[in-house]
Amino acid sequence: MIRTYLLFCFLCFILSAHAQQPQLKRWHGKKAAVVLTYDDALEVHLDNALPVLDSLGLKATFYISAAASGSKNRIQDWRRAAANGHELGNHTLYHPCDGAKPGRSWVSSINDLSKYTLAELMRELDMTNTFLEALDGKRERTFAYTCGDTETSEGSFIDAISTQFVSMRGVHNQLNKIETINLKNIDCHPVDEGNAGQLIQWAEQARKENALLVILFHGVGGGHSINCDLKNHREFLKYLKKNENDFWVTTMLEASKHCIELKKK
Ligand SMILES: [Zn+2]
Repeated sequence: MIRTYLLFCFLCFILSAHAQQPQLKRWHGKKAAVVLTYDDALEVHLDNALPVLDSLGLKATFYISAAASGSKNRIQDWRRAAANGHELGNHTLYHPCDGAKPGRSWVSSINDLSKYTLAELMRELDMTNTFLEALDGKRERTFAYTCGDTETSEGSFIDAISTQFVSMRGVHNQLNKIETINLKNIDCHPVDEGNAGQLIQWAEQARKENALLVILFHGVGGGHSINCDLKNHREFLKYLKKNENDFWVTTMLEASKHCIELKKK
């Protein structure tokens, strides 16, 4: 009898302890998540995008190609951005792209990813991680595929590099759902002059679908042939701030770690 009673008490204890465990809410209880990413270490990111982000208290992810002039010329500014809570992500050292693809005549021979070996790419990634660690002191890192390309002369490098990064961002034009997100090739909406007016529509769709929206900016108010004008950029960020009860605006690293935790449930 006593033994049954003790067993009953033990089971009650286990059940109540389980009930007290905080449940991780999707997107921290908000309807959608938004990650703003800025590629290629452009100086306009520091001069045009960062002041708007900081004035609204929004954090973003900057994918840095370490050898780019906008990286080397502005080391202290990138260091300050990281200290202020923004993420510095790995976008290789020299930004190689697959020159064998159609429309890639602009890719120089030494920067042609289709001629790289895996070992050559790996050492670029390693050097860039070291460079970024010197700026922000961190070892956890996310990655963005240059030009969205995932193959060297030796085939796909996705699995080979995945152990070095919490997640990797591709360029596919889709929202990410928690049930189906591929952390080795996260989808995003690349922005150019033709679609910059649709930024808010994408966010509305993400809110409707409880999805993760990742935005990819290159030029902001200039600085790159793929450009988002200052007005659309500013209005989108102000919209996110105004609707912050519904949108969790965060870095790629934080969003990815959140997805990993949710998938464990
Ligand atoms: Zn790039």
